[in-house]
Formats: sequence, structure tokens, C-alpha cells
Amino acid sequence: MQEPLQLLIELQEIERKIKILAEDKARAPKEIAALEEKKREAETRLEEKKVVLESAMKSRRDLEREVEDLEGRKAKSKQKLLEVKSNKEYQATLKEIDDIGELVRGREDKIIEQMESADALDSQIREHKLLVAEAIKKLEEEGAQLEKEAKKADSLMLILEEQMEQLKPKIPSDLLKKYQFLRDKRAGVALAPVQSGTCGVCHMSLPPQLFIDLQRNETMMNCPNCLRIIYWTGHEAYKQSSQPE
Ligand SMILES: [Zn+2]
Repeated sequence: MQEPLQLLIELQEIERKIKILAEDKARAPKEIAALEEKKREAETRLEEKKVVLESAMKSRRDLEREVEDLEGRKAKSKQKLLEVKSNKEYQATLKEIDDIGELVRGREDKIIEQMESADALDSQIREHKLLVAEAIKKLEEEGAQLEKEAKKADSLMLILEEQMEQLKPKIPSDLLKKYQFLRDKRAGVALAPVQSGTCGVCHMSLPPQLFIDLQRNETMMNCPNCLRIIYWTGHEAYKQSSQPE
């Protein structure tokens, strides 16, 4: 068994876990920002509906005032009817009363329309209030969950970093440098497990003799294609490390 290789496998595994935790942590603020944006959108839609309702109510009040005025005029005209002297004047006043009645009916129709649309707006506002409440609840719940996960990730990361610091001095420094060089040049993965004669990262089949040599586990070897340090997962010492979690 090659101890340095086993240490490298451990190191790569620790680094992989740290990377995943860091990525998860980086995602959290974005997820919270997206939830906040959804909440803001819901609030904006609610405010818009409220504005529409207010203006509908204002125009209804205006119409009601107009109706009052018209009714006042109609009452005066009716009063006048009792005082007119000529038939012509009588007819003209009757027409006046009729015309005012027509104007009143027109406004009352509009008032009914406004009442109906206010009802519809009321129920829309109720729906939007629910949506806002849902968005707030989701933000609070998921925000708390993400915060909890971030804290957990932080403490896990501390443990892993400590493990890494303990591990590094055990690895020969030239080998550690080689590992770090490969890791930086090869998308963060310096070691490749080999299963059934195939490189587990670049998926190239190893030449048969190379695979046989690898199984002997005597020297450190590299994948001829991706140049990563390879190890055979069938070997007892590396089995544990190559298992996905
Ligand atoms: Zn490879």
C-alpha cells in the first residue's frame, strides 16, 4: 500500500467536501434575494390594486355627489311646477324634470358599475394579500433554514479545514506540490479512481499493461490521457475513499 497516495486521496476528498459546502453557502444569499424579490413583486401588485380601488371609490363618491346635486335641482323644478303661470312654462318645467331624471339614471347606472368593479377589486385585493403573506412566510421560513444550513456548513468547514491542516504535513512536500499543481490545472481534481480499467474522470481505457501495473500498487502512476494520478478502486486501501457519499 502506498501511504502518500492514500493521504492524497483523503486530501482530495476533504477538498471536494469543502468546495461543495462553499458552493452551497454562496447559493444561499442568491436564494434569499430571489425570495425577497418575489415578496416585493407581490407587494407591488397589491399596492397597484389598492390604487385602482381607491380611484374607483373616488369616482363613485363624485357620481353620488352629482346625483345629490341633480336631485336638488329636480326638487327645485318640482317646486317651480306649482308656481308656473302658463302652460308653455309648465311643459318646459316638466321637460326639465324629465331631463334631470335622465341624468340621474345615467349616473346611477355608473354607480352600479363602479360598485361591481369595487367588489371584484376587493376580492382581488384579498387574493393579493394572501400572496403577500405567503411570500413573507416563505422568505422567513426558507431564510431561517438557509441560515441554519450556512451555520452548519461553517462548522463543518472548520472541521474539514482542521483535518486538512493535520493531513498536509504528513504528505511529502514535493508530492503535495505535484498534487496542487495537477488540481489547479485539472479542474480541481488531481486524482482519478480507476474502475474496470477506465479512468474515472476522463473515462479513457488504460492500456492493459498499465492497468495490471496499477493493480500491483507499487508506484505512483498517471492517466496517460488526463495525466491525473490514478489509483485502483479494487485495492483494499483505496476502496473506502472512492465511495461516493
Ligand atoms: Zn484520465
